[in-house]
Amino acid sequence: MHPPGADTILIRYGEIGIKSSQLQQRLEQLLEENLTAVLRAMDTDDVVRRERTRLYVETTPNRIDSVTEAVTQVPGVVSASPAVRTEPTLAAIKEVLVETAVERIDSGTLAVRARRAGEKEVHPFTSTELEQEGGAAVVEALREKGVTPEVDLETPDTTLYIECREHDAYVFLEKENGPGGFPVGSQEPMVALLSGGIDSPVAAWSAMKRGCPIYPVYIDLGEYGGIDHRTRALETARQLSKCAPNWQNPVRVATGGPGVARIVEEAESLRMPVLRRFMFRIAEDIAAEVGAVGIVTGESIGQKSSQTSAMLSVTSEITTLPIIRPLVTLDKTEIVDKAKEIGTYRDSTISAGCNRIAPDRPATKPSLSVVQAAEPEDIAGFARDAAESADIISTKELIQK
Ligand code: ATP
Ligand code: MG
Repeated sequence: MHPPGADTILIRYGEIGIKSSQLQQRLEQLLEENLTAVLRAMDTDDVVRRERTRLYVETTPNRIDSVTEAVTQVPGVVSASPAVRTEPTLAAIKEVLVETAVERIDSGTLAVRARRAGEKEVHPFTSTELEQEGGAAVVEALREKGVTPEVDLETPDTTLYIECREHDAYVFLEKENGPGGFPVGSQEPMVALLSGGIDSPVAAWSAMKRGCPIYPVYIDLGEYGGIDHRTRALETARQLSKCAPNWQNPVRVATGGPGVARIVEEAESLRMPVLRRFMFRIAEDIAAEVGAVGIVTGESIGQKSSQTSAMLSVTSEITTLPIIRPLVTLDKTEIVDKAKEIGTYRDSTISAGCNRIAPDRPATKPSLSVVQAAEPEDIAGFARDAAESADIISTKELIQK
C-alpha cells in the first residue's frame, strides 16, 4: 500500500553502508547504474537520484507499483518504500499525512513515525514534534471522516512514516523487502551451470545477489538430454537477467552428447561423479575463455546419490576453480520457496538428463583414485570440444521471439 499520488521510491541498502567511504561510493554508483538499467528495460525514462546514504527513484503515480516491484528484485536493495515527496515543512508534511490517512485508513489502529536527518538548524521541529503534530492532524481528519482512530505506538495496524531530509520530506506506508546483497558487477563473474531444473537458477541467482555477474552454461546431454530442458535453461537465464539487464551475458549451450555417450559406455557405477567432473571441465574451459573466477552449481548435500558429501569432494577435485554451491545446506522445500520468490520456478515433471544417465546401483562414496581411474582417457578432449563449439545464444533475442 502506498500514499495516494506516490511518485518517489526510497531505496535502502545494507552491507554497502558499512564499507569504506571510497568503496561505498563505488557501490552506490553501481547500484544506481543497475537500477537505471532496470528502469530502461521497462521502457521508462524514470531517473535514479543519489543522495548521501540513500537512492531515490523518481517515477510517476501511474506506475509506482510496477516500478517498486521491479526495483525490489535488484541485488543490493534491502528495501524500498513508495512515497510522496513534499516540502520539508510541518504544514506540507501534515497535509500529505492527512490526505494519506483519509484515503487509506478505514479502521484499525495507527501510529505516525518520523525520522529527521540534517542539522538542527535546518528544520525548526524535532522528530517527536513531527509525530505528535502529524498524529493529531491525522486523528482529527479521520474523525471528520467518521472513523474513530485509536493510536497504538506498539503494534499499529497502519504506520504513517515520515522521513524528513534537508531539502525534501517523504511520507510512506510500508517497506517492501528487496534481496539485499551487493550490486551485480561488484564482484568478478562466475560461470553458472544451468540444468533447466529448479535448483540451478536459484544457485545462479544467489551468486548474482552477492554481486557476481553470471555466464550461464547449459550442457546438452545428447540423447539423454531434452529439448524441454534446453528451453527451460534458456528461459530461466532470461528470467535471471531481469534483475540486472545491463549484466546480461548470452547462454552457452555446450554439446555434451558425445562425451556423455562415452561416459555411459565406460564409467558404469561411477557415471555420475565422472559426468559431474566432465561438466566442471567444460565450465572451467568456458570460464578461461570469458574470464570467470568460479563455477556455480545447484547441488545440495544428499539431494541425490550424485550429491552426497563424499561426491562433492571427488568431483570438485577436477578443477582449481572454486565450485560455489549456494544451496549446499538448503532443503528442497527451501529451494522451491526461493525459486517461486525469484520467478524461476515451474513445476517440471520432465524426466531427462542426469536422472536417465544414473546407473541402477550408483556409487555414493567412491574414493578419488577410483573415480579418476573410471574416467575415459579422452574425456578432456570431449570437454574441450564441447566448450569450444558451444552455441552462444543471446537471451535478449529470446525476449523478442
Ligand atoms: P537442478 O539442480 O538444476 O534442479 P538437478 O536437481 O536435476 O538439477 P543434478 O542433475 O544432480 O540436479 O545436477 C546438479 C547440478 O549440476 C545442477 O544444479 C546444475 O548446476 C548442474 N547440471 C546438471 N545438469 C546440467 C546440464 N545439463 N547443464 C548444465 N548444468 C547442469
Ligand atoms: Mg538439484
